[in-house]
Amino acid sequence: MLWRVVSQAIPTCSRLITRGMRIESHCPRCPTAEETINHVLFQCPFAKMVWQLSNTPILQTHRFDDDTEDNVSHIINSYQNKNLTLSQKLVPIWLLWRIWKARNKLVFNKFLESPSKIVLQVEAEIQEYINSLNNSQTSTNIPPNHRFVADKWVRPPPTVFKCNFDAGFDVETHKATGGWIIRDNHGNPKAWGSSKLTHVSSPLEAEAKALLVAMQQVWIRGLKDLQFEGDSEILINAVNGRTIHSDLINLIQDIDYWSSKFSSIQFMFIRRSGNSVAHNLAKFSCFHGDFFSRSVDQPLWLKRLVCKDSFIT
Ligand SMILES: [Zn+2]
Repeated sequence: MLWRVVSQAIPTCSRLITRGMRIESHCPRCPTAEETINHVLFQCPFAKMVWQLSNTPILQTHRFDDDTEDNVSHIINSYQNKNLTLSQKLVPIWLLWRIWKARNKLVFNKFLESPSKIVLQVEAEIQEYINSLNNSQTSTNIPPNHRFVADKWVRPPPTVFKCNFDAGFDVETHKATGGWIIRDNHGNPKAWGSSKLTHVSSPLEAEAKALLVAMQQVWIRGLKDLQFEGDSEILINAVNGRTIHSDLINLIQDIDYWSSKFSSIQFMFIRRSGNSVAHNLAKFSCFHGDFFSRSVDQPLWLKRLVCKDSFIT
């Protein structure tokens, strides 16, 4: 991306015009400004707002100017700055990409994205990315039997039920689905289902909403002692109060409210490999629409997945 910016390869309007295409040359957001790369990424009021909201330390003593090359060099140099955390180094690069995507969404899909949403999304994506880096590091450094986090499904203690949940989220369409399955101490499924989730703007939000649906489904079945298990470490940390997420505050409050309805409740993180039943349920809904268990018919594909989990434990 940086290289493309420097080499002016991004086909912004003014470039397309120099190549002989006849289109409007002004920015789709500001009718009076020519749409150059520098304008879209740094000078457009929309871009300026995104940069300002991001609060990035690289702009504390610096301002972007009219020179694309200067601006990009500043970002590259900041990436080498040893005083910045990995997340602080990644934010500017990620923002460039997201600002460009937002411009395309506006031009091609007539979709207006809000600057604050972009910043929140970038923060969540970077967290998710750093987390996956940490996860792969722990899994290579520590022998499998010493790993603290479960990567295989484990039965809950007697009298406790375990509910695994997962979400699916399409970054392009923002369509989200949630899947859940409740199992007893013998690994037998009590109920399962999947459904579409509405008003979701990030993968993290989808995970939180999938958990809420799972909690409600457990509650209406009258079960009181529960373990909820999901594969988003960020969400589980937030629910357990270890981290605070500004974009999740309302959802965490809802989760707290539903938690108070149970006699005992635990939120646990499991690696994706151990959460495959819920993962597949979420995926199923994305292709076939809402889907819920009845006491008699358990689809063969689900039976196989559940069996695989039960054999392990
Ligand atoms: Zn503009």
